[in-house]
Amino acid sequence: MNLTNIGTVKDILSRHGFNFSKGLGQNFLINPDVCPRIAENGNAREGFGVLEIGTGIGVLTKELALRADKVAAVEIDTRLMPVLDETLAEFDNIKIYNEDVMKCDLHKLIQDEFSGLKVAVCANLPYYITSPVIMLLLESRLPIESITVMVQKEAAQRLCAAVGTRESGAITVGVNYYGKVKQLFQVSRGSFMPSPNVDSAVIRIDLTNEHRLDEEEEKFFFKVVKAGFSQRRKTIANSLSSNMGASKEKIYSALRETGLSENSRIEQLNMEQLIAFSKALNK
Ligand code: SAM
Repeated sequence: MNLTNIGTVKDILSRHGFNFSKGLGQNFLINPDVCPRIAENGNAREGFGVLEIGTGIGVLTKELALRADKVAAVEIDTRLMPVLDETLAEFDNIKIYNEDVMKCDLHKLIQDEFSGLKVAVCANLPYYITSPVIMLLLESRLPIESITVMVQKEAAQRLCAAVGTRESGAITVGVNYYGKVKQLFQVSRGSFMPSPNVDSAVIRIDLTNEHRLDEEEEKFFFKVVKAGFSQRRKTIANSLSSNMGASKEKIYSALRETGLSENSRIEQLNMEQLIAFSKALNK
């Protein structure tokens, strides 16, 4: 079954009485070149189990299953279950979890489905939870090698920005803390049905799985990062005193200890400075 053929897709969806949900970020890929490229660049290969988030009608799922040993996919929309039974019927290495990825026990899923395999994540992410999903995957310390995802172009720019620049955000710090990120290719809005209002890009995060801080310090570090970036144009002293309840004196002293000016803003700090400042503040 050709899941990038518009006629075929329309036929399947109408037979199942399916209407797209904007709220769930349902823009399905119909450009035949894109899913094979995501799979090939995303570690979908022998020896790997691939976790997919958001299957839609299974257009990417299928390309992943053709290349990897196993695919486990989490899809929230129950209306898609009978559709997937039909579109993925020929595969015996795909397991679908009809769940919300934000509530799913991903450690257990990986343990149950991918024993003896390396693990990669591939997805065309629902745009409304791009950052929360990426942060969840990173912060959960899952045993994964890479995360290859389609995101909106603006999100890709933020993810791939350098830490310490105006273009960076909490998510930029997150990916650079856990690994290395790069943009692979851009995808035009016409590659989707229905077509969204913006273009997209595929990025890959290669995880180093080295933890620079212990678990408690790491938790505190991300609290600082999130509090700081929630008011990024304010000085660190102002944003952290109002969002974390830390006293200004303590913040000034941690800034001085790190060799930073009392007027520093969070977006000006590079990775090493952020880590050193967070450690000083956590003392
Ligand atoms: N992979 C398909 C494709 O490329 O055509 C679908 C991609 S579409 C952008 C995002 C998919 O994620 C939709 O099928 C949507 O129902 C699903 N989704 C949305 N929120 C979700 C959540 N919280 N957990 C799991 N899946 C979700």
